[in-house]
Amino acid sequence: MPVAKSELPFAETSAGPPAKPCPICGKPANLATRPFCSKRCADVDLHRWLGGVYTIPVADAEAENRDADKT
Ligand SMILES: [Zn+2]
Repeated sequence: MPVAKSELPFAETSAGPPAKPCPICGKPANLATRPFCSKRCADVDLHRWLGGVYTIPVADAEAENRDADKT
């Protein structure tokens, strides 16, 4: 079967640039998710950009509510 390689944006795979290591975990980067090795590492980097650190809201009030809910 003939393949229209000319239509592919990344046709020069034979002479592509060397894969850099993932900046998050240091593993070889994946072509689909580079410069990261996986989508997970891409998400980690995204969260760093968004908030710097992970901020998980604490729902202490809800726990007290459950205790006072019983009759
Ligand atoms: Zn990684």
